Amino acid sequence: MAFAPRQWGARPVWAEIDLDAVAHNLKLLAARVRPARVYAVVKANAYGHGAVAVARAALDAGADALAVAAVDEGEELRRAGIAAPILVLGHTPASDAERVVAHRLEPAVGGPELVEALSALARARGAEVPVHVELETGFGRHGVPPDAAVALAERARALPGLRVKALFTHFATADEDEQEFTDRQFEVLAGAARRLPWVGERHCSASASVLRRPCAGSGTTLALDAVRVGISLYGYRPGPGCGPDVDLRPVLSLRSRVARVAELAPGASVGYGRTWVARRPSRIALVMAGYADGYRRSLGNQAHAIVRGRRAPVAGRVSMDMIVLDVTDVPGVVPGDVATLLGADGAERVDADELARLAGTISYEILAGISARVPRLYLRGGEAVETSTLNQREPRPA
Ligand SMILES: *Cc1c(COP(=O)(O)O)cnc(C)c1O
Repeated sequence: MAFAPRQWGARPVWAEIDLDAVAHNLKLLAARVRPARVYAVVKANAYGHGAVAVARAALDAGADALAVAAVDEGEELRRAGIAAPILVLGHTPASDAERVVAHRLEPAVGGPELVEALSALARARGAEVPVHVELETGFGRHGVPPDAAVALAERARALPGLRVKALFTHFATADEDEQEFTDRQFEVLAGAARRLPWVGERHCSASASVLRRPCAGSGTTLALDAVRVGISLYGYRPGPGCGPDVDLRPVLSLRSRVARVAELAPGASVGYGRTWVARRPSRIALVMAGYADGYRRSLGNQAHAIVRGRRAPVAGRVSMDMIVLDVTDVPGVVPGDVATLLGADGAERVDADELARLAGTISYEILAGISARVPRLYLRGGEAVETSTLNQREPRPA
């Protein structure tokens, strides 16, 4: 367990990002799909983990490229000096073509407007912009149906300044036990790919199919030429049936410190709405982290944190900036003790799947919801090597 540097000031809440776990997960996933290339998906600030530090760790561990959701996320990586290919997965409006070219991003294209705008700019600059044509196969989000996708790819091929790098699609139900719809989506992609034999890269698999479907070499992999891994890079599975045997390691821990300990008499209440009332002489610990840090309000009276290696229930509602723990059954709690809201302490662990279940959501939303005001502390070999904060987003030495 690392400790928050002093310069962060009086409010001790921080996320520890284990870069060794990022490397471990990336290598494990890559081994399942090689020789396919691996896009490390670092959208949404790397699912809350810190985009620049995670991108560097994933590339060092062998990732071939990165993927983000939007142009500004790609710009952040370029500003940090990252030179690897960056796929932009979301819808990029034609008005952002300039930024795509300037930062050498590789947008997903789902229509002719962006393609025409990119070509005009790229030609004027003597640049070549790689684009990924997104095929609609059943997700109903951003892709274009096969005939239109083939026409779009042919058009882009004919335009100067563009290179159709890839044809891709995204699975809707790859995390479910029933794989029939995934197979159907795959067949649509394979059919369109046969009509575009000159497109060198085809990709469709995210974490779910990389974990669920058999490994490379088995003949039934969906890896094709490349995969795009997000949640598994951060140590979680899209669903319980997704590679339960794969040794993924959770990357993020969210910790704080006990600010104050108080005794409560039976009948005393805690928090908004008085939803927690002491039934016995109780000890409570105040922790300065709340829903504005991403610790969801619906965890009130539901979740546990870990203090001194023991689970302590959250007493009452989660406030914006504070929670209260019932530490009556945890001996010896004093101000300054670390409170682990997500992660391991001693033999106990609270993981993002547990919090997600209690909050009625998925691990993705718990992790991506860790807010920008929470400092990130990047660990290697258990030691803090870098930090990033709200006011200093690019990692710097710890
Ligand atoms: C977010 C995203 C991914 C990564 O998905 P995971 O389930 O987190 O691995 C892959 N492809 C696309 C198109 C995405 O939007």
